[in-house]
Amino acid sequence: MVINAIDTHCHIRYAPLETLKPIPISKIMQEGPYYTAYWNELLQMEQAAKISTVFASPMEALVDLADTVQANEDMFRLVQDIPNLYQWVVIDPRNDSTFEQADRMLKSKKCVGMKLHPRLHGYTLAEYGEKIFSFADERSAIVQMHYGREDYVGLADSFPNATFIVAHLGGALHINAVKNAKYRNIYTDTSGMDSLRNKLIEYAVSQIGSDRILFGTDTYAPGSQRGRIEYALISEQDKENILLNNAKRLFGL
Ligand SMILES: [Zn+2]
Repeated sequence: MVINAIDTHCHIRYAPLETLKPIPISKIMQEGPYYTAYWNELLQMEQAAKISTVFASPMEALVDLADTVQANEDMFRLVQDIPNLYQWVVIDPRNDSTFEQADRMLKSKKCVGMKLHPRLHGYTLAEYGEKIFSFADERSAIVQMHYGREDYVGLADSFPNATFIVAHLGGALHINAVKNAKYRNIYTDTSGMDSLRNKLIEYAVSQIGSDRILFGTDTYAPGSQRGRIEYALISEQDKENILLNNAKRLFGL
């Protein structure tokens, strides 16, 4: 049986090529000067990989602080017209307009939660965690975070109504965060290239089970990201949980 997977972690970068600004992440990923992720191309790759639903945030909101508010609005408009595309609203904790946007957008069925990228935005959760997560806690919101060496367990235990997705499963630090959250409110996702490491998916499932692992692509080769789960040495039930069931349950789809 083919599982129609849900990609919970994707990005769209929609600006015309000639106006794209080089971003640090391009250098890191050795993609050349520009990271592109045009929706029409992504959609083709997602469909080929039998991914039926995509949750995305706009790269424009992450690479250029001046554009965060505008990019959230652009994304909010885009998802209204595409049935299987959902939005993460990007928060910059130093810009209160992004909290006002989140307050409004989280009420829409097409906005699945808040997205943080402390590294690209240049702040730490030690400085702004309290502000962000008290806001999320009051709204029982789900927060997707680019992984960094932060005290996720301390924050998750202090704000039990919020759900934390520590993205880009890459090793023991992610696994321990999920394991140690007192209220089981930390998840991880398989997006990115680290989850391709030998036996990492298998090891994670052996340690924390499959209930709090979400599937994501981070825009990178959706077919290979899906294949890493599809052909892992884990049970069919675990595969279905990761590719589909956990997202359906957590996001109420
Ligand atoms: Zn991301």
